[in-house]
Amino acid sequence: MSREHVLICVAWPYANGPLHLGHVAGCYLPPDIQFRYERAKGNRVLMVSGSDEHGTPITLTAETQGISPQAVVDRYHAINTQALLDLGCRWQPNVDVRGIEYGGALFNRTSDPDHKAFVQENFLALRKAGLFEQKTMQQYYELRDDGGRFLPDRYVEGECPHCGEDGARGDQCDECGTTYEAHELTNPRSKMNPEAKIEIRDSEHFFYRLDRFQEVLEAHAQERNPNWKPNVRAMTKQWLEMGLRPRAVTRDLDWGIPLPLEGAEWEGKCVYVWFEAVQGYYTCARIWSNRNGDGENWRDWWCVAKDGTTPRHLYFLGKDNIPFHTVIWPALIMGLNHAARGLGPDDEIRLPGPGDFALETNVPAMEYLMLAGGQFSKSRKHAIWLPSFLERFDPDTLRYYLSINMPEGHDTDFNWPDFVEKINSELNSAYGNYVNRVMSLGNRLEGEVPLAAHENLELCTAEMKRLEEIHSQITQSLDRHRYKEALRHIMSAAQYGNQMLQHATPWVHVKDPTGDGAAEGLARLAFGWRLARFLAITSHPFLPFSAERLWAMLGQPGEVTEAAWKDAIDWTAPLTWSDISEPLFARLDLEEILAEEQALAGVDGDNTPEDPGHGVKGSGKGQRKVETKMEKAPEGTTYLDFETFMQVELKTGTITSVEDHPNADKLYVVHIDDGTDDGRIVCAGLKDYYTAEQMTGKHVVFVANLKPRKLRGVVSEGMICAADDGEGAVRLITVDGEIADGSQVR
Ligand SMILES: [Zn+2]
Repeated sequence: MSREHVLICVAWPYANGPLHLGHVAGCYLPPDIQFRYERAKGNRVLMVSGSDEHGTPITLTAETQGISPQAVVDRYHAINTQALLDLGCRWQPNVDVRGIEYGGALFNRTSDPDHKAFVQENFLALRKAGLFEQKTMQQYYELRDDGGRFLPDRYVEGECPHCGEDGARGDQCDECGTTYEAHELTNPRSKMNPEAKIEIRDSEHFFYRLDRFQEVLEAHAQERNPNWKPNVRAMTKQWLEMGLRPRAVTRDLDWGIPLPLEGAEWEGKCVYVWFEAVQGYYTCARIWSNRNGDGENWRDWWCVAKDGTTPRHLYFLGKDNIPFHTVIWPALIMGLNHAARGLGPDDEIRLPGPGDFALETNVPAMEYLMLAGGQFSKSRKHAIWLPSFLERFDPDTLRYYLSINMPEGHDTDFNWPDFVEKINSELNSAYGNYVNRVMSLGNRLEGEVPLAAHENLELCTAEMKRLEEIHSQITQSLDRHRYKEALRHIMSAAQYGNQMLQHATPWVHVKDPTGDGAAEGLARLAFGWRLARFLAITSHPFLPFSAERLWAMLGQPGEVTEAAWKDAIDWTAPLTWSDISEPLFARLDLEEILAEEQALAGVDGDNTPEDPGHGVKGSGKGQRKVETKMEKAPEGTTYLDFETFMQVELKTGTITSVEDHPNADKLYVVHIDDGTDDGRIVCAGLKDYYTAEQMTGKHVVFVANLKPRKLRGVVSEGMICAADDGEGAVRLITVDGEIADGSQVR
């Protein structure tokens, strides 16, 4: 079995808003699937990511809301971390249960002081190696009584020099798409203080010499091309063909990592956010190692070994981020290698060798998930937010839908009818029903392990062969990052199982396990248990919660998360059983969902992300925040509408006589005077708690509009209310004083 070192790098979400489903499909679900799969294969996997917490969008949000940037990022870091955990993304535990040498996971943040320290260390190393150049830039400066400040591009507005549109940003016009230098903008003004006087001032900045990496990056891309997806190949080629130019690594802003330099000219400047956030893949591994290991074991996932063995680096991100991870980040990594070798500005830049940091092996970047035809957008508020989605739906339904609809080769679309259709007619019908059939048929057989006695693998060689084929197909698809295809293969196993049962008709034989053809039919049912176990192991990277429930239903020891990938086709595993049998998935009702969507849209159409707990449901301002808080039930409670509750009719009555039920040992037949001429009869399971004499004459409360139902031949017209402490005590609810029978209880 392979014991490869695999570093899974997940794009750092920007802590300026909640995650939406577009982010999940593009960046956060695929790496979790890969992580779980690589672990099951026995590899040593370290997964790193965290919140990207610096930059001007965050300071703008903070200034607009009148709070500190730290308050903004604290809020969204907490919300997004929780949402990812709720989605089942395996950021916990930090250390692999097999031991630290097997890796683990860390979801960190760029405001971490250790991240800052490592970034500053790298900044100095790259500068020392002569990989920076210093230039004077012209920047807008806002004059204020307290001394003024430099204005980042996003803080400047004016008229576009190209199309004349007002409200164009300092460096780019959203209307016509033109980019330009800030000083080209007509009638510039400060976005936050439009009345303030602004002027252009000189400012010193450092630039990373990307141009020095042109040749070595071309060689690198050439080598990686066969593994890269077409979109990764194309975008990387385009960038390299444009020719690389030095890129600014510092800026005039105080929310960020300060430059580790002395001197008045560097005050009020910080490291550019692109330069430091991308280093998070590296700093996060070191911080994980410092906190959990010996501070050195991170090297196993980062460095090329002495014998040339290279850890496998997989980067998961959206397509807008591709060149960043195939051009810019590799250039920084090679720069750090250059610096670590003690080389200078005139020395040749080389691809990594033994002891160096490794470059990306693959970048399985996704296209976009669209929302009803339009692009998900945090800033344009066209989105379904992850936290609110998870409040309403089983996370596995989202994981299933986004996986089977993953934007791997082209953009895909999220829409509610398709979501409901795929959950009901694929996940529920094929997978859920299959498991349900096996469990309920198995339970109808006698014995402690009802199926094991009927197992006969010799009769099932064709079935074994088929599953082995499917297993190999799933493995090949996952090795190539084709998640959608892998999940389709898994679902084909469930469909195969349904056909196998249809053909073997075990429901005929469970009634007569020794009859004609029973051995063959029940052997297929027993194999059906193995197929369900196959489904639990292979679907676990996609559907971790349901797979775990299925694992328990099958009576398997431990957790499916820890089962080996190849165990799915280990036919010698002992056939176990449990008495748990429950539906794996709930059916969804499209009309209900659409009605709810519409009602929520009516509550608040603008769907702002200010209250990410509710996102699509509406914002959290003022009154509405109170409403949404009240909507959320405490754990273990399902709230009932007031209208629904009012439909229950409770009335008072007097017990006139009590008899034993003729056909049910535990039931009484209770006659109640309910204020009507005929009275009514209710069957009650109170024999263990009251004698007939004790009950007779009591004034009780009963449910008057419960649909009458026949209980072993006697029609019961309601239900008598009683309190039950769950530990053996049951007492009737009685009326305090005189009141007419048939009175309403409210
Ligand atoms: Zn324009």
